[in-house]
Amino acid sequence: MRKPLIVGNWKMNGSRESVRALLLAITANEDVGCDRIVCPPFVFMDMAAGLVQQSVVELSAQNLESNKAGAFTGEISAAMLADVGCSHTLIGHSERRELFGETDEIVAAKCMAALDGGLVPILCVGETLTEREAGETESVVLRQVNEVIKIVGIEGFSRSIVAYEPVWAIGTGKSATAEEAEAVHMLIRKRLAEESERVGEKIRILYGGSVKPENAKALFAMEDIDGALVGGASLDADSFLAICEAAAR
Ligand code: PEP
Repeated sequence: MRKPLIVGNWKMNGSRESVRALLLAITANEDVGCDRIVCPPFVFMDMAAGLVQQSVVELSAQNLESNKAGAFTGEISAAMLADVGCSHTLIGHSERRELFGETDEIVAAKCMAALDGGLVPILCVGETLTEREAGETESVVLRQVNEVIKIVGIEGFSRSIVAYEPVWAIGTGKSATAEEAEAVHMLIRKRLAEESERVGEKIRILYGGSVKPENAKALFAMEDIDGALVGGASLDADSFLAICEAAAR
C-alpha cells in the first residue's frame, strides 16, 4: 500500500516571518495520516530545516542545478541542499520548463543529479492546453517520462516520486476531473511497470493543478492518485492540512 503524500510548493512567496508562521502551524499537527513535504524558496531552506527538525514534515527544493560545483553563478547543488537538511527536490515543474527553458534533457540531467546527491526527485510532467486539445496528452507525458528513464534507468524511479500536473490546471482554479487525472496516472504507472512491475506498483504518483480542500477527496479516491502537489492552497495552513486530512487512509 502506498502511503499518501501531500507536497506544498510555495513557489516565490513568503518572508522569514510568514515561512516561520506557516511551518509552526503545519508542524503543530503531527497526526494527519499522510506524509507531508513543503518546498520553501532556497533562501529560507536553512531556517525551515531548523523549524521542522522535531516534526515529520520534510523539505523539498523547488529546483536544483545539475552540475555538482564550480562556476555556475546563482545556482544551488544537490549537495548544498542535502547539507542544510533538504531531502527532496521538485524537478521539471512546468514553470521551470516554460519560463526558464528546461528541456526534457535538462530535466533528466537534474533528476540524475538529485539521485546522485542523495535527494528524492519529484519529477513533474504534464501537457499544455494546446497539447491536450490536439489529443497529445499521452504522447507528451510518455515522452517526458521516457526521457528520464533513459538517463536514470528504472532503478532511478524506485527512489523517485512523479507528479502529474496538467499545465492548464496549474494556478488557474481549473482542476482536471478525478477521471481525467486517473487516466494519466494509470498511463504513467503502466509505463513504469513495463520496465519493472515492482517500481510501477511502489512509486507514488501525485496529482497537481488547483487542488483545494473541496476537490481533494474525489481525486484521492482514485486508485492511482497517491496524493497531491499543491501550489496556491499550500500557502494557507488550514487549507494545506485539510488537503492532508482528505488524503489520509
Ligand atoms: C503547482 O505549483 O505545482 C500547482 C499545482 O499549483 P496550484 O495548486 O496553485 O495549481
